[in-house]
Amino acid sequence: MAIMSAPTTFQPILERIAEDIERTPGRGRPADYIPALAACDPRRFGMAVAEPDGTVYGVGDWREPFSTQSITKVFTLALDLAREGDALWEHVGREPSGNPFNSLVQLEYENGIPRNPFINAGALVVTDRLHTRTGDAAGELLAFLRAESGNPDLTYDEEVAASEAAHGDRNAALGHFMASYSNIDNPVPVLLEQYFRQCSVAASCADLALATGFLARHGIRADGTRLLTRSQAKQVNAVMLTCGTYDAAGDFAYRVGLPGKSGVGGGIIAVVPGRCTLCVWSPGLDERGNSVAGVAALDRFTTLTGLSVF
Ligand code: GLN
Repeated sequence: MAIMSAPTTFQPILERIAEDIERTPGRGRPADYIPALAACDPRRFGMAVAEPDGTVYGVGDWREPFSTQSITKVFTLALDLAREGDALWEHVGREPSGNPFNSLVQLEYENGIPRNPFINAGALVVTDRLHTRTGDAAGELLAFLRAESGNPDLTYDEEVAASEAAHGDRNAALGHFMASYSNIDNPVPVLLEQYFRQCSVAASCADLALATGFLARHGIRADGTRLLTRSQAKQVNAVMLTCGTYDAAGDFAYRVGLPGKSGVGGGIIAVVPGRCTLCVWSPGLDERGNSVAGVAALDRFTTLTGLSVF
């Protein structure tokens, strides 16, 4: 039965979830459009919960680095929003797209302005703008992830970046198409290199649960300085809730009830504002590109704890 009072430690809940997941058949399939990801074992499973003070709990493969992929879109959004504020929203929207993450179809009707920052088109705009402001968008992201996770060893996976670049025609098409609407500043090849490096960062559930902490702390970084205003942190959480799992965002909100962001490496981060952050990893994906066991584990977590934004 559901435990409806907030737990004092998350460890027993994580262990119970891992047992439930272990018994569940059917894990989906690893992403195969990036060949370097296709070899992952879909039975791998890890989950971590971090409290706002940096206490972290974990189970299974929670210290194993995996390919962060689209999860990084949350951090580049936060880093760019912190610099340019609301001007960003003239270049990217904040409505769910209802389309797959790498879709091109809406862009022409909507004059090269992507629906939201978490589909690939929108993430390319954000990375482009962050690159213009910092001269090294991927480096800025990596420095942020290292600082927030406390793990100086985090780095890019050059093999994954090269693998994606070699199969990057769709992202190249998105970049060039938006450039034709003057919604990209940098040369498209420069932007793509930044974007593929960004997506290739390898990190564990523990690293990512900790790095997401600023969203549970209403914009405050691990060292106590402020990255986002309280209102901006709320906005990023809201966009995660409505757009973070692509054309499955409605179902994710229904089942999990938390702001979340998935990546095709099989990771998902989620936020309980004021209370904790989570990261779960299992490489088998459903047809919309979200981790099957990851969504199931987050569903179990909010059911068992009662912790949800609803
Ligand atoms: N690097 C991947 C891509 O651009 C990220 C997609 C994802 O994780 N959903 O296709």
